Amino acid sequence: MRLLEEKIISEGRVLSDQVLKVDSFLNHQIDPFLMNEIGKEFALRFANEGITKIVTLESSGIAPAVMAGLYMNVPVVFARKRKSLTLTDDLLSASVHSFTKNETNEISISNKYLDEDDRVLVIDDFLANGQAALGLVEIVKQSGAKVNGIGIVIEKSFQQGAEKLKEFGFRVESLARIASLSNGEVQFINEKVG
Ligand code: 5GP
Repeated sequence: MRLLEEKIISEGRVLSDQVLKVDSFLNHQIDPFLMNEIGKEFALRFANEGITKIVTLESSGIAPAVMAGLYMNVPVVFARKRKSLTLTDDLLSASVHSFTKNETNEISISNKYLDEDDRVLVIDDFLANGQAALGLVEIVKQSGAKVNGIGIVIEKSFQQGAEKLKEFGFRVESLARIASLSNGEVQFINEKVG
């Protein structure tokens, strides 16, 4: 997605060969116009999947997921990373090791918001080794619902996640695919910008 790639080039900061910082439009401050375009693009790509629900992970997955939910006309559920006093229903949970924080979190969704006949689109901000996406997939499976697609805003294709998810048979659509972050430079798959 051209607009997203341009935004990554102009505002992204390469922190290391492995990590890209995009706090100015996705992970801290949020660009609503870009999120709107991202939501539209996900809706277009998954239009034929009969999606009934979107599942994401707090907090950075929420903005793109909500915009996709708006265009697809389906509800959005976000998994929580911490136990909440108000999250008292029967919980569907999975363990997720965080790539950026190097810690393991239990992520949870109330079983009230996933039905076994749901066709789910999983959305997340980044795809690195696939732990977050696989945790969300596991939660959806526990509910008996089906994962019909995985939508990623920024895929770091040099890490293992995308390959792993595709090996499991999931359809993965990533709006920006990064081939390399070497030498402080963002290189996209199929084209070199910047
Ligand atoms: P994975 O679970 O696929 O290994 O990593 C994906 C998760 O880690 C995402 O939910 C995202 O929050 C975080 N993450 C992974 N790599 C990056 C990165 O390069 N930059 C940022 N900002 N977050 C990342």
